[in-house]
Amino acid sequence: VFCRAYIPGVRERTLVAVKPDGVQRRLVGQIIQRFETRGFKLVGLKMLQASEDLLAQHYASLNRKPFYPSLLRYMNSGPVVAMVWEGHNVVKSTRMLVGDTNPAEAKPGTIRGDFSIHISRNIIHASDSVEVAQAEIALWFRRSELMEWECCDHGSVYQL
Ligand code: GDP
Ligand code: MG
Repeated sequence: VFCRAYIPGVRERTLVAVKPDGVQRRLVGQIIQRFETRGFKLVGLKMLQASEDLLAQHYASLNRKPFYPSLLRYMNSGPVVAMVWEGHNVVKSTRMLVGDTNPAEAKPGTIRGDFSIHISRNIIHASDSVEVAQAEIALWFRRSELMEWECCDHGSVYQL
């Protein structure tokens, strides 16, 4: 069968969301392209206006920060594009693709380093650990919204 569970971590998944500023600035296509060309597999994708309840759960660990109210207003200000990407080491690799939280610290070549300037408008979210990714995917997506499929180039991206 197609299950390649013997390659450790290949089925790792992470939650990525293009934030309202990224959608407004029409960066969705370029952001998706970076994950596709890297070789990761898209297994979930939707556009939605995130509810305050969803955002409060998503950012629960930050609810005592001074920027928390403005963060929720920002994230609720328009539609976001949420996605789930799958592949070997995808959580860590995605954080590297995305770059530092503060775009002023993000390296050129990273998504934040190339497309954003200020920490309050850093255009993209990515889960920061495998455990957090699992919780965030369960929060943002139903199981039926996640696709199981095989990339035909799997043997060229991974050693079989
Ligand atoms: P991330 O995992 O890199 O997104 O960073 P965090 O989990 O620490 O923070 C979540 C989000 O809150 C960031 O992406 C920013 O949008 C926002 N944020 C974090 N720190 C600050 C800050 O000091 N000021 C403002 N205005 N927003 C912040
Ligand atoms: Mg975070």
